[in-house]
Amino acid sequence: MAGILFIISAPSGSGKSTLVSELRKQVSGVDFAISWTTRAPRGSEENGREYNFTTREEFERMIAADVFLEHAEVFGQFYGTARQSLSEARSAGHDLLLDIDVQGAAQVRSKMPEAVSIFVLPPNPKVLRTRLRNRSRAEGVVNEAELYRRLSEASQEIENYRQYGYILVNDILDRAVAQLEAIVLAERFYRNGEAIAYRSRRVLEVAAACLQHNSQDRLKPVLEAFGIDGTSGQQQLPFGDDPDDD
Ligand code: ADP
Ligand code: 5GP
Repeated sequence: MAGILFIISAPSGSGKSTLVSELRKQVSGVDFAISWTTRAPRGSEENGREYNFTTREEFERMIAADVFLEHAEVFGQFYGTARQSLSEARSAGHDLLLDIDVQGAAQVRSKMPEAVSIFVLPPNPKVLRTRLRNRSRAEGVVNEAELYRRLSEASQEIENYRQYGYILVNDILDRAVAQLEAIVLAERFYRNGEAIAYRSRRVLEVAAACLQHNSQDRLKPVLEAFGIDGTSGQQQLPFGDDPDDD
């Protein structure tokens, strides 16, 4: 494709959608692939805006018709990216951003190894729990079972961070947005020779610091907090009940 394919993955509630929406306000020429899903709309979500909502039967028909570039079952629901998103971005000459889970990311990477992949981490489990809970409250539905499910799968998802080129720790939002923007601009600079003006040096430095192999210092405390052994990638401790939890 003419543009760059960016894949962004994160445990649910890490702030991926927030980062993507902030990025799109700052950087033009990035299309967002609206995924298909069988899950029900949440809060103020609208069909065709956050997701294309559909039934399981229809989704299965779409799989059979080879509509999807990738698809996966996440938290008991189907999610998939239509090939059409890619062809539309390609004809517009735009970059394309996929917000997909670790299984979908692996499928895309094997088909399109040139894709740029970014893994977003919350700073620690407690912050993740608070974000998930706040989001549910804001949407007017706190489903404890769903919340617990998403939390308990976070560590497993985080173990896949090694498959990603860039790492973002979404602690302070403004900083994480600036880092995401720097990654997009740096990749455009390196791949397309696109000028990034007077900020170029700083942008390239910020992006380089987010490369996975330069992220060990930022990664270590996060992996420890999630009970993941940074050397083996194995999870050591499951989520415990936190007496300080809100
Ligand atoms: P995801 O798309 O990864 O599931 P969301 O973008 O929906 O996560 O974010 C989950 C919740 O956390 C939302 O209520 C959002 O406003 C909040 N949030 C996201 N990033 C931050 C941040 N850096 N600091 C505080 N709250 C955040
Ligand atoms: P949510 O239900 O919170 O919107 O998303 C749950 C998970 O599904 C997130 O990890 C999100 O990245 C992932 N997801 C969203 N769309 C897709 C998609 O098209 N394909 C895949 N594989 N995962 C997706």
